[in-house]
Amino acid sequence: MDYDTYGSSAVELAIDLANAELEAPETFLTSHADWFSPGTPLELTSRDAAKVRETSQLIRAVAVAGTQAAVIERLNELLALARPRPYATDHDGELHLHYAAADAPALEQLTTTVAMGLSQVVVQHGWQRLGVCSAEGCDNVYVDTSRNASRRYCSNTCASRSTVAAYRARRKA
Ligand SMILES: [Zn+2]
Ligand SMILES: [Zn+2]
Repeated sequence: MDYDTYGSSAVELAIDLANAELEAPETFLTSHADWFSPGTPLELTSRDAAKVRETSQLIRAVAVAGTQAAVIERLNELLALARPRPYATDHDGELHLHYAAADAPALEQLTTTVAMGLSQVVVQHGWQRLGVCSAEGCDNVYVDTSRNASRRYCSNTCASRSTVAAYRARRKA
């Protein structure tokens, strides 16, 4: 996906977190280790693990909200978990912002990055850009970065699965 015009690729981490199975939240952190500054310990206390789950649910709550007022309320709940201390970096060759202090604990880096990333997209492009997958049996959330805001599925897999199902249903009818 192209986030060039979306202000922040951090929204990608937010969507991943909202869709993750969080039986073991530490696994989510280790599989997304690139998002944390080098050397950040990724072990979580059980209290922190619960916070990761709570953050995931808050992102989902923002994505499924049906009115701007509800989005604002839930987004602000998520932003209350953030401890922004932004800095510019080109560690990957491209100049961009990181939102959390490099020496912040993993949980703080996570909540700050996802809250700021999600907020940027909502504020710049509208809350309608967030949605829930229309495929049967899938409740993944997504951010719609298509030019005409026409996205309905979380992934190409769900999109083609639904196309096939619709085709079969038409044939039967
Ligand atoms: Zn970076
Ligand atoms: Zn889906």
